[in-house]
Amino acid sequence: MRVANDATNSKKLQQMMVTQRALRPDFAPTRNERCFCGSGDRFRNCCGSRTKDRPPPHGVEIVSTFLDADRCRVWSDYLERQPRQRLGTVEAREDHFETTYDVDRITDVVKAGELRGEINGEIERAFRTVIAPLCERPFAWFEYPQVLRYEPGGWYRAHADSEVFVQDQQSWAKGIDRDISLLLYLNDEFRGGSLSFLNFNYSYRPRRGDLVVFPSDHRYAHQAEPVEQGLRWVVASWGAFANEPRVRSEPAPESIVL
Ligand SMILES: [Zn+2]
Repeated sequence: MRVANDATNSKKLQQMMVTQRALRPDFAPTRNERCFCGSGDRFRNCCGSRTKDRPPPHGVEIVSTFLDADRCRVWSDYLERQPRQRLGTVEAREDHFETTYDVDRITDVVKAGELRGEINGEIERAFRTVIAPLCERPFAWFEYPQVLRYEPGGWYRAHADSEVFVQDQQSWAKGIDRDISLLLYLNDEFRGGSLSFLNFNYSYRPRRGDLVVFPSDHRYAHQAEPVEQGLRWVVASWGAFANEPRVRSEPAPESIVL
């Protein structure tokens, strides 16, 4: 991966990209504060509501059956036969980086194989026809969609997709050029495995074919809850808006320019 300019800058960027074990959000509106979404309501009655079965909070969009059920099944059946690899999380130590497995994240990334083109095409369709109109902004690129497989016990501890919490500064920093996160659920035959947005007391129970879209910053820190039974299949990608300030000099190595 190429990052901007000199070695110092490169090191700084790498450190910012490190996933922190302890998530310490500095976005913590009080319950009586006016909601960040601009509704004029108090946070507790708006995006921070604790009401069950309420609509998603401001900024989280759910598009039902973006992908039809048959195609979801064809994809997950094929992908189950593909090679896969455990993903780890990376943390900065004094003088080196350390990758840990099976602690904060128990997730396999699966090779898309012959489905690569079709998956990229559908995710491009999502960014062009659904997400850009929702955001009322064009995208510069989106990253190659990742196919993720969660076994029973699989989960991903709370994290933000574009930012990391920098312990020294006690604040969040953008480490990667992602503005909008996309999740496409390929199945729902599993127990557990909800998607929780910690700041909003909001949990989404995945449904086959649903597209879930939200900003990639720390307000939308989220956790993939442990799968209790069955397999959880999801395709993930991240889009970068056109004309947005960048932390890197070029798009992520594997990305599709729009
Ligand atoms: Zn709100």
